[in-house]
Amino acid sequence: MESGRDARTGDGPNVTGAAAKETIAAISTPPGRGALGVIRISGPSARDVVRPILRRIPPWIPRQAVRVDIRDEQGRELDQGLLTWFPAPRSYTGEDVVELSLHGSPIVLRAVLDRLCQHGARLALPGEFSFRAFLHGKLDLPQAEAVRALIDATTLYQARVALQQVHGSVSRRLAAPKRELVDLIALLEAGIDFAEDDVSVASTAEILDRLRGIRDHIARLLASFAYGQLVENGASLAIVGRPNVGKSSLFNRLIGQDRAIVTDIAGTTRDLISEVASLGGIPIKFLDTAGVRESADLVETLGIERTFQAMADADLTLVVIDLSVPLADADHQLVERARQGGRHLIVANKCDLPPRALVASDAIPVSAVTGEGIPMLKEAITAALGATNRESQEEGFITSLRHAQHLRECARFLEQAATSATSGIPHEMLLLDLYAALQQLDAITGATTADDILNRIFSTFCIGK
Ligand code: GDP
Repeated sequence: MESGRDARTGDGPNVTGAAAKETIAAISTPPGRGALGVIRISGPSARDVVRPILRRIPPWIPRQAVRVDIRDEQGRELDQGLLTWFPAPRSYTGEDVVELSLHGSPIVLRAVLDRLCQHGARLALPGEFSFRAFLHGKLDLPQAEAVRALIDATTLYQARVALQQVHGSVSRRLAAPKRELVDLIALLEAGIDFAEDDVSVASTAEILDRLRGIRDHIARLLASFAYGQLVENGASLAIVGRPNVGKSSLFNRLIGQDRAIVTDIAGTTRDLISEVASLGGIPIKFLDTAGVRESADLVETLGIERTFQAMADADLTLVVIDLSVPLADADHQLVERARQGGRHLIVANKCDLPPRALVASDAIPVSAVTGEGIPMLKEAITAALGATNRESQEEGFITSLRHAQHLRECARFLEQAATSATSGIPHEMLLLDLYAALQQLDAITGATTADDILNRIFSTFCIGK
């Protein structure tokens, strides 16, 4: 992508023309002490700002790490490390880049950075390296956003999805509907240009047919966002049931560590305990709630209120029932409440004991003590949250709200176009909607994204990225 973006404004990395040509430098490793600290320098004078701080000038062999000694103003040794030279355009930013891999001493790294600035570098703004990569066509916008998602990932699965997006999965999936849309625009434009020459104009049926194809694509992408959101933001799961049915034990089983306190005195889990664990790669917030029963104890009553609140807020509720004792009214009430409330699963716990309760056929028998039925319960949880079939979805589903919003807008314009086509409105008018739809797709990849939006996206990056 050749960029025509020149005038830049605002506080983000999206800086004005001259500043965009400056050479920038930053510490790219996280703050604090460590074995290594990496300083990244990018811009046309990357080598010029580094040269004066080196004891000996390296041979500048592309992409080959060489040993260097760093000097302070008086020529005393400051640190030693490795220098790697990435000449443009084969670098992360697409510009000349020098990477210094030094010791991870914050004080030394700061001193080196100061020296680079004395010799003409400017401190990089947050996200400015990635922004330059975007500017030079090394990354499109979804790829740059995915770099951040990769860094922010909390589960390995999130990281894997983000990496696929770094490799361009979002833009790849957008390519087909975009091509079809451009084709349709070209067809209609030709019809208008050559109308007087008696060139046959596209029939309404053909236009509608093509529009349907494009809308299907967009609808599928939007449908994948429900799953993408789950991967990105996770889901919350409330575990409810009468005291002593085994909620805390089940909670511990599911999160795989002893977080909640388990006792056999009824009503000990008075407060909400929550823990985030990964289930099938999806971050799931488990809410272990107070046991539900009639109670005069104020603290416990508050706990019960919270239980109902948690059920209302949770993406999924597990209603736990004790299989080893006859069902009580409270069990029936809870199941009833869950059935009215939304997504839920009935878990029949203590299946290791002789059964004395008659439970619904859809109840999942488990034992929090022996672990029996737990894998099946985990599967049921991921299925109920819509987190199955992920292998088929991995190749490019939508995880970003920004992307989803543009897709929704795109779908709206396409629908408008279809309505116009049906009612025989002139093609010039129809084209306006199609161009608007196209612009929404381009906004996702960054081809037509307004500068202030770019600023907002890149300024959420960390410095040095
Ligand atoms: P909560 O009040 O619902 O959180 O229940 P707890 O998790 O504190 O469990 C209450 C009692 O039931 C404890 O003594 C647990 O050891 C026991 N328990 C929990 N799950 C099972 C199970 O699957 N089988 C058996 N036999 N006992 C269980």
